[in-house]
Amino acid sequence: MKLSDTLKSHFRIDVGHEKALKKLGIETVSDLLYHLPARYEDITDVQSVSGLQKGQDAIVYGQLSGLKTRKAWKSKMPIAEGYVEDGSAKIQVMWFNQPYLAKMYQNGMYVKLAGKVAGSDTKLYLSNPEVEPLDSLPIDRHDSIFKDTEGYDDTLYPVYRETKGITSKWFYHTVLKCFEKGVLDDVYDPIPASIIKKYNLPELKTAFVWIHSPKKAEHATSARKRFAFEEVFYIQVRKAQERAAVSAATTYSFKTEKDHVSAFVDRFPFPLTSAQKNAIDIILSDFNGVHAMSRLLEGDVGSGKTAVAATTAYAVATSRPPEGTKSPLPRGTLGRGLSGLEYGNLQVAYMAPTEILAKQHFESFIEYFKHLPIQIGLITGSGCQKFPSKTNPNKPTNISKAQLLKWVANGEVPILIGTHALIYKSVEFKHLAYVIIDEQHRFGTNQRKKLAKKDVRMPHLLSMTATPIPRTLALTIYGDLDISLLDEMPKGRKPVITKIVLPAHVDEMYEHVRSELKSGRQAYVICPRIDEPDPDKQMAVTSKSVIAEAARLKKDIFKGARIEPLHGKMTPKEKDAVMLRFNNHEIDVLVATSVVEVGVNVPNATNIIIEGAERFGLSQLHQLRGRVLRGTHQPYCFAVTESKSEKTRDRLKALATAKNGFELAEHDLTFRGSGELYGAKQSGLSDLGMEAIKNIKLVEAARTEARHLVETNTDLGRQFPLIAEKVAKIGEDLHME
Ligand code: ADP
Ligand code: MG
Repeated sequence: MKLSDTLKSHFRIDVGHEKALKKLGIETVSDLLYHLPARYEDITDVQSVSGLQKGQDAIVYGQLSGLKTRKAWKSKMPIAEGYVEDGSAKIQVMWFNQPYLAKMYQNGMYVKLAGKVAGSDTKLYLSNPEVEPLDSLPIDRHDSIFKDTEGYDDTLYPVYRETKGITSKWFYHTVLKCFEKGVLDDVYDPIPASIIKKYNLPELKTAFVWIHSPKKAEHATSARKRFAFEEVFYIQVRKAQERAAVSAATTYSFKTEKDHVSAFVDRFPFPLTSAQKNAIDIILSDFNGVHAMSRLLEGDVGSGKTAVAATTAYAVATSRPPEGTKSPLPRGTLGRGLSGLEYGNLQVAYMAPTEILAKQHFESFIEYFKHLPIQIGLITGSGCQKFPSKTNPNKPTNISKAQLLKWVANGEVPILIGTHALIYKSVEFKHLAYVIIDEQHRFGTNQRKKLAKKDVRMPHLLSMTATPIPRTLALTIYGDLDISLLDEMPKGRKPVITKIVLPAHVDEMYEHVRSELKSGRQAYVICPRIDEPDPDKQMAVTSKSVIAEAARLKKDIFKGARIEPLHGKMTPKEKDAVMLRFNNHEIDVLVATSVVEVGVNVPNATNIIIEGAERFGLSQLHQLRGRVLRGTHQPYCFAVTESKSEKTRDRLKALATAKNGFELAEHDLTFRGSGELYGAKQSGLSDLGMEAIKNIKLVEAARTEARHLVETNTDLGRQFPLIAEKVAKIGEDLHME
């Protein structure tokens, strides 16, 4: 059997399985082997129903039957009840106060139940168990999957990601058959043996056996570590290649005098934080280097990233292109005669994720640059502007796109701010030396090159983000970037007063927000869902919906206030329109889903209520809280939770104590698991890769080895074809353009 063989050529695969496999992207034997178990279960943890005893915390696998709801005889409390049967016996199950559960599950369904055994010795029942629906029963004491395959009889069995139409048991058996058919003879380890040895990882053949059919928990762990290493390693190789490509390209190298920058910075109405100063210094020194800069600037909302962007953009826009590439335009055409500020200077492109943000950056830049004869352009889907206007030197003016593009192309406009419209084919720069991008995590070498068009020089890149992610994840997904942190908030900023609010105290909270509204402030209310509760879905029952909540607040809580919903099902245009009206204070209370996370700046909005706070990760809550950090008034954040769990409340309390978003992100990684990690979905990592980022040593090792490999092997395709192949595939996944 060969790895590249199709499964079909070896196994009879029925239509149902075929469909399911296709959905998972599994076609070949290799695809199957790389479809790794999500976790393992140990049958020694599982109790058989016949042996259950009162007071026990039990895990039971079985089939549901007799589901119904009723009201308790005296208290009238609604109860969902039924039975679970596992082949050894049958036991009653009761869920108190959760009648909808009886509707969520069906008779005949396979489930894993975890709950307490209660009742009397003669009539036991399982009380309020947690339910996990299963494709099939992974074990059955009378027909154990471990008994029918010679040599693989152990108590650990793999559980593959839940998939409709295909069971863990099927995967397990099919993998074992592949082993029997000798597929492992066709397995060659792409990772050099020296690396495998150095980090004490199992080699690929062993790892396949250990991951799919471990005899010991350590084997599974060790194999998972190997595959995790492999995944991060390939990503790092890809990143190292991109880095090498940037390093190989020529760039604009220029020196900026300290005094020159001071003259700009000294006009700010505030002193820079030392974190801002450090970031500016290192960027300016990057500009002076021989390789194009690739730098990530991470800083919480309000940490002052725009000031760093503006200062460094100033350094660029006041620098001349190298000799021999001089602008054909006459010097000083602008007519202000300031030395060094003639046409044809180096240019800056500043890209924002939304139109509102692009506009906000444009306005900020006007503030920073209005004393200088430096023109600033704005390009978005709905039009173009230029600062200054010919008629009013303090105001921007609307201009045609054609006109703006002409001035960008000939170098008259050195700073162009915009949305994705910036990378349109028609946008051409004369000397694009610096690309600044805000919250666009996938922007890479290719787009940067695209922006520069025919210019042989690679522009410097500053990628800015307020998304708090743990260091390991940053090292992985931004492996090609150098990282600078703005880990210090400007002085005198009023920290957000954060309160964890239990249901008993919502009235006080509403009272507070009412008084804030009365004194002219605005508020956000964040809800976890947008639709009316769907009685068939457990989550919806307790979630408040944006639309219903907006109506409720209008009617009962904030009477007379202008309240509007904003949610993910609205078109971008509709969202923008609502945001604009909120910004203009035509709306007092914005009731929204988490879509408002994207950095919108409404300084007058100083209150945020987050419903169902336990549903969010800490870093996401922090991100949401950042919305009220902008103004001069005291900001408040209310995290409302109905959770009775001590652990959940403790977790939420970290919101009030953590120093910054990065601390909270690390907290999330430790306490919530990587799967729910903020920013995880966009990262393109598999579940296993996400698991890997819990391990800083592993990530750093993969990074070191990948960089070393790329530095010492110029022709990876020839020297390490297996690696090159994997890396090329990752490239496709990571760069959706
Ligand atoms: P970010 O983009 O990191 O969220 P901004 O650059 O928009 O933050 O800055 C937020 C606000 O703080 C702006 O009003 C800005 O003028 C102000 N600001 C920036 N740096 C400082 C500083 N060092 N001290 C005081 N205020 C600052
Ligand atoms: Mg910003």
